[in-house]
Amino acid sequence: MNQQAKQIYKRLGVLGGTFNPIHHGHLIAAREAMAGLELDRLLIMPNARSPLRMEEELAPAEARLEMVRLAVEGAPGLEACDVETSRKGTSYLVDSLQTLRERYPMSELSFLMGVDSLSTFERWREVDRIVDLARVCVMPRPGADAKKALSALEARCPKLIGRLKLLEEGPRIDISATDIRDRVKSGRSIRYLVPDAVREYIGENVIY
Ligand code: ATP
Repeated sequence: MNQQAKQIYKRLGVLGGTFNPIHHGHLIAAREAMAGLELDRLLIMPNARSPLRMEEELAPAEARLEMVRLAVEGAPGLEACDVETSRKGTSYLVDSLQTLRERYPMSELSFLMGVDSLSTFERWREVDRIVDLARVCVMPRPGADAKKALSALEARCPKLIGRLKLLEEGPRIDISATDIRDRVKSGRSIRYLVPDAVREYIGENVIY
């Protein structure tokens, strides 16, 4: 798709993360957020390397991006985004949002993250600029009280008071990439936890 066509999205969402691998928890939460925020497009953006997480079994960035591509194939409104995987080194969200702002100057940008990300959010690089560049929206996830987690973040970092939006609606899907990697390693099935194309890719490429 050319640059001009990309700029017509009025409301553009970005879901960032490691996606090691992408799973149906991500996709269902993404779909709910798209509907709730009336997004025209949602980019799923795997990082090259997370600033705050050291993962032992981190699949190569190209493989994680390819799995995102396979997962969104044919899904209306969803798109794999290579902004972080094509930039080598540690992926800082503030840089990625700046790039997206330049790439889509006409779009209203929303950044989506799961409630677990609230526990470190105030330590993300240039967090004030992040909340200026995009509306930061928090997706529910099982096992976490989103209201409580947001209040705790706001108490630790008062400049963020009122700057993040909680998305409350929708099903909560208890799937994690950690569990999927564990299952692959121990030979258990991941059918129905990830899209079939992702499961086949993992099997064929012996990713975990
Ligand atoms: P891991 O188990 O390796 O920590 P993960 O399943 O949490 O991985 P990430 O790639 O870290 O996957 O997640 C990307 C983003 O999606 C994060 O903001 C995370 O909170 C959110 N997310 C992940 N799984 C779910 C889920 N089941 N429901 C809602 N949000 C989720």
